[in-house]
Amino acid sequence: MTIPRLVLLDRDGVINHDRPDSVKSPDEFVMVDGAAAAIARLNRAGVKTAIVTNQANIGRGIIDQAMLDSIHDKLFAALRLHNAAIDAVFVAPDRPEGASIRRKPGAGMLWEAMTQFDVPPDATEMIGDAETDRLAAVAAGVAFHLVRSGKGRETEAALPSDAVVRIHDDLGQAVSFILGGG
Ligand SMILES: [Mg+2]
Repeated sequence: MTIPRLVLLDRDGVINHDRPDSVKSPDEFVMVDGAAAAIARLNRAGVKTAIVTNQANIGRGIIDQAMLDSIHDKLFAALRLHNAAIDAVFVAPDRPEGASIRRKPGAGMLWEAMTQFDVPPDATEMIGDAETDRLAAVAAGVAFHLVRSGKGRETEAALPSDAVVRIHDDLGQAVSFILGGG
């Protein structure tokens, strides 16, 4: 296995702590320990990074785009402290009911990211904590890494027996594995 050219990251439960009612303000946005440093390591290795995140609270009218932007401003500020940056952010605002293929487990956002960076699925890997992340990766033909943060332990316990995944404690461990080329 070689080092991928693009790593797709779920946001809630991977980069920041998830909440049962999801993150609705910058105050509710709390980074996972080691996440910013892990993204900095991907940056230094020349790996492109993109967030692919479902945010149904936008479709439900619970938060608006301006609030999402302020939440992401807090994320970008936390990353800057570690000389880290995310190259692109893809958001699916769809509600689960009648969602488009952009909402995970659909592969739409993953395709958009691979198109933007002109990287094929076999040079792309995804890191997430939910079964919907895994299914989106499978649909896009992208290798999947499950982290045990967020919903990860629950997801691990319910994995189908034929699921092909690497499991790591958190984003830092997943990135170490990916950059180790193992
Ligand atoms: Mg998640």
